[in-house]
Amino acid sequence: MTMDGKLVSAYVKENVKQEVEGFIKDTGVTPALAVVVVGNDPASAVYVRNKHRACLAVGIASYEYALSEETTESELLALIRDLNQKPEIHGILVQLPLPRHISEEKVLLAIDPKKDVDAFHPTNVGRLVAGNYDFLPCTPAGVMELLRYYKTEIDGKHCVILGRSNIVGKPMAHLMLEANATVTVCHSHTKNLADITRQADILVVAIGKAEFVHADMVKPGAVVIDVGINRLPDGALAGDVATREVEAVASAITPVPGGVGPMTIAILMKNTLTAAKKQILEEK
Ligand code: NDP
Repeated sequence: MTMDGKLVSAYVKENVKQEVEGFIKDTGVTPALAVVVVGNDPASAVYVRNKHRACLAVGIASYEYALSEETTESELLALIRDLNQKPEIHGILVQLPLPRHISEEKVLLAIDPKKDVDAFHPTNVGRLVAGNYDFLPCTPAGVMELLRYYKTEIDGKHCVILGRSNIVGKPMAHLMLEANATVTVCHSHTKNLADITRQADILVVAIGKAEFVHADMVKPGAVVIDVGINRLPDGALAGDVATREVEAVASAITPVPGGVGPMTIAILMKNTLTAAKKQILEEK
């Protein structure tokens, strides 16, 4: 079975849209997201455009701050401080990667945790680990939403996560733990990788290597979540999983594109609404 991220993200966004309408009616406030992008990375441009479109579709106001490659770190930090202060902005997202001369860590730290809709600020990371959060990092939360939609059993299952980045692998592990999976996290130092991935009931792959996972690494009947987005030399997109091969052994698999990617954006919409609700309710 293919787990259709386009379908499920449309479902999530429809719910957000209805809630946004209700929120605007009740409070007179339109939830708003500021997206900051520095430089001319073509992949970032596509992501930013998709985020803007999603905002339009659900009724969230979206403001894009497109800064030149030459922007200094202090200029970017000043913009973030300004956005932190603006009551009409509820969510701030700084598109990564940033140019080399700007410290990603300093920038993420500068965002007010209440407006940190990517949930990358250490305060929000800590709250995720403690299981006491307002919003969750978009990609792993999107994976959980997809699994929920398809009624995939997680409790007591062995979930193997391939990749340990702060954006995907690590938060994914915490969410799976919270859902009562037994979790194994693998990375580039893991020995006998295929022996471990073959034990997975749920295999989440986020390593950034095109078609790295082949059928012989997957247990028959496993659920396979492919987070990877890789550009092949011919320009086509490929995930981290050799989809054609693996779908013959897996019970369910996410396609690339059209799997986890759209879910990430749908959760961003949900997070922006949550951020607006929290900020407006706190004011009252
Ligand atoms: P990172 O490069 O930050 O992390 C990759 C992880 O994979 C690291 O933990 C690394 O291990 C591990 N890894 C790399 N090679 C191997 C290997 N041969 N064997 C085992 N582990 C390996 O990537 P991200 O987590 O940011 O992204 C992963 C992929 O997901 C990318 O393709 C990215 O484009 C995509 N992505 C998709 C999103 C979506 O919305 N669908 C959102 C975010 C990312 P180590 O730590 O030891 O170096």
